[in-house]
Amino acid sequence: MNYGFVIDNRKCIGCHACSTACKSENEVPLGVYRTWVKYVETGAYPNNRRHFQVTRCNHCANPPCVRICPTEAMYQRDDGIVEFDNSVCIGCKACMQACPYDAIYIDPETDTAAKCHYCAHRTDIGLEPACVVVCPEHAIISGDMNDPTSEISQILARQDVTVRKPEQGTAPKLFYIEGHDVALHPTATERAPASFMWADVIPLHGNDSQHGSNGPSKPIETKARNQANAGAATPTIRMPQTQGQPWRGPIQIGEGRMADNMIQVGYNAQHKVPWHWPVPAYLVTKGIGAGIFMLLSLGLGLDLFAFDGLTALVAGFLSLLFIGITTGLLVFDLEKPERFLYILIRPQWKSWLARGAMLLIGFTIVGGLWWLFELGAYLYEYDVPIIRDIYLWVGLPFAIGVAVYTAFLFSQAEGRDLWQSPLLPFHLVVQALMAGSGAILILNLFVVPQGMERVALIVFMAALIVDLFITLIGEFSVPHASEVAARAAHDISHGRYRNYFWWGSIGLGHVVPLVLVVFLSGLPVFGAIAAVCAIVGLYLFEYAFVMAPQEIPNS
Ligand code: SF4
Repeated sequence: MNYGFVIDNRKCIGCHACSTACKSENEVPLGVYRTWVKYVETGAYPNNRRHFQVTRCNHCANPPCVRICPTEAMYQRDDGIVEFDNSVCIGCKACMQACPYDAIYIDPETDTAAKCHYCAHRTDIGLEPACVVVCPEHAIISGDMNDPTSEISQILARQDVTVRKPEQGTAPKLFYIEGHDVALHPTATERAPASFMWADVIPLHGNDSQHGSNGPSKPIETKARNQANAGAATPTIRMPQTQGQPWRGPIQIGEGRMADNMIQVGYNAQHKVPWHWPVPAYLVTKGIGAGIFMLLSLGLGLDLFAFDGLTALVAGFLSLLFIGITTGLLVFDLEKPERFLYILIRPQWKSWLARGAMLLIGFTIVGGLWWLFELGAYLYEYDVPIIRDIYLWVGLPFAIGVAVYTAFLFSQAEGRDLWQSPLLPFHLVVQALMAGSGAILILNLFVVPQGMERVALIVFMAALIVDLFITLIGEFSVPHASEVAARAAHDISHGRYRNYFWWGSIGLGHVVPLVLVVFLSGLPVFGAIAAVCAIVGLYLFEYAFVMAPQEIPNS
């Protein structure tokens, strides 16, 4: 068995019967969609046309949503259906980042992920999915692609078909007959006009200050929208006017090329950004916690500075505290925080979210035991350097793992091309060293770490310079692997997030700290100020890096 769908665009009349039947059959709440009919209009009157595209989960043969799920809530059945089990979903939203097709949503009634599941409850008893049965044109064909006598196999054998985003390597099993480029390609038009046929446009971000809420916010600003809005009282692309003369000229597609004809999205389902401020915040706190431990471990292990009991206790406490805050942010960001332990009791080991949770726990255990050992040594005035060395060397790989694992988690988020950077693991280690050594420079105001501050200062400066180089040259100045990654990078360096990037990350986060430590390094207070600037700048960079790719539409 290998179930798939064919959508015959020659027959689809855009009646939305499939969307409605799906809602009814699966009790899909208002505001979210398992399947929908995207409308894209092209051409100029009288040579214009409306294209329909039935859009849903592709039941990919190689589904990234399954790989990233930390609890096996998303899984692939033997018959090829990609199914979900909302009783074990923790609401981490990682599957939404992994799906390159915007097929998954968070159910507002259960706070768990959901999507088209091929009406598995019907399929299991020999019935076809509700959308197939209701379609008046027989434009949706379902069936077993392994059976050469099935209708779907015969259609696939005879017809030219296409899929959405074949370059993602997910092997979608939803095939379109006469799929149109402008409908299949989500960035062929703007994300959304100011309004749709029969629907208001919901803001992309909801309310940024309350992730997951439905509150209003500013729409994404793009070149085309800015052009459209210039001087207009009503900022909408769809304006009553003579057909054949698109309002203010043809709509921009991508950079530098104008469409020959008008292309606009008439209707589409809308998706919100799944991850907000807790993710960049957790990247920073994780970096501080892991970086402090890496500095202590390498510094003491390689005799770069002398051991000091009080410093070790305070710095170790800070390291554990920030890793604790990291775990707290992870749990806070779940839609089902009460199910956090499911990651531990039902882990899906391919997921870097599950592996990362184990690394955080492993680090906390080793680091905690070491800290208790240091506390005993300090209170009862004994010292066993060999035990300290064992703890610190065993803890080092955990600290590096804690710093780095997010790079692999981001690489599993295959719906966000900018996050697929091969530099990311190295970049995260450098950021951790920068944040950790910065924390030691702040600590230097309160305790005297006997030479440790000199090592911290050197590491801090070196990490700042390397990080600046990676950020400017490595992440943003080299050609990107895809147009989508390039668009996200452009949004960071020249678009909506340019102030976060240039003023926040480069200016406040690198230039100011480097000036302070190079010219005023003799005064600890300036080292501490430099560290605070670098950590704030790091947060602003992470915020832009996390948010910008999520704003590029996937459907
Ligand atoms: Fe469906 Fe998206 Fe998963 Fe593919 S990656 S199986 S389209 S949810």
